[in-house]
Amino acid sequence: MKLTILGCWGGYPAQNDASAGYLLEHEDFTLLVDCGSAVLSKLQNHTAPRNLNGVILSHYDADHIADIGVLQHALLIDKMLGNEKEALPIYGHTLDSKGFSSLTYKDITKGAAYSDEEALEIGPFTFTFLKTRHGAPCFAIRIECDGRTMVYTGDTSYFEELADFSKDADLLLCESNFYKGMDGEKAGHMTSTDAGTLAQKAEVKLLVLTHLPHFGEVSQLQEQAAEVFERQIIIARSGMEYYI
Ligand SMILES: [Zn+2]
Repeated sequence: MKLTILGCWGGYPAQNDASAGYLLEHEDFTLLVDCGSAVLSKLQNHTAPRNLNGVILSHYDADHIADIGVLQHALLIDKMLGNEKEALPIYGHTLDSKGFSSLTYKDITKGAAYSDEEALEIGPFTFTFLKTRHGAPCFAIRIECDGRTMVYTGDTSYFEELADFSKDADLLLCESNFYKGMDGEKAGHMTSTDAGTLAQKAEVKLLVLTHLPHFGEVSQLQEQAAEVFERQIIIARSGMEYYI
C-alpha cells in the first residue's frame, strides 16, 4: 500500500499547510484517513475528491474533520456537473452521535459505523481499532493490506496496550504533539519520548512522527525519539509518500 501525507499539523494547519490527513492507496482503491483543515486542497495535488472510495476518521476534533463539509460540497458540485457517483462512505465511531450524524449528507456521503469489537474490511484493507486516551473519544487504527501493516495512533497519550496493538507494524504513524520532558498525559497527547518508546516496544520497522506541535524546533522530536528507538524515524511533511 502507498501512504501519502496530506497534512501533519496538530490543532490547526501551519501556513500553507494542512492538519491531519493521510491518503492510502492500493491498486485501484483510494482511502482518506482523517480529513483535517486544508486537507481537501492538499488532496487535489494527488487525486480528485471524486476518486475517493472511502474516508475513515479517528475522531471528531476539528483538526481531523474540518474539511468533511467542504469534501461534501466538492462531491455535490461534481454531481451537479453530471458526474454520477454512489454516496461516499465515511467511517467513524458512534461515541459522538452529533459527529457521526454529520457524516451523512444528502445522497452525497453516508456515515458508516466502526467499533473496536470487530474488524472492518474496506476494499483491500482490513481495519482494527483501539480506543485511545484523549479528551474526545478517539480510536487508533491498525491497517493491514497484502501482508503489510500500518498503524495510525490517532490522538492519544501513551498507554501500554498501544504497544501490543502496534506490534510489528511496517510503519507506525504516531502522533508526537509534545517534546521530551513535557506532560502529554493531561492533554491526551504523546511526547517524542513516548513515540519512541511505543515504536521500540512494538518493534515497528519505521516510525513516522506526525500531529506536530506549533512551537519549538520539530527536528528535535526526531532526535529525542531516537534516544529510545533504534530504527528509522522520519518527521511527516505534506506530500511525502511511502510504499509500505
Ligand atoms: Zn488532533
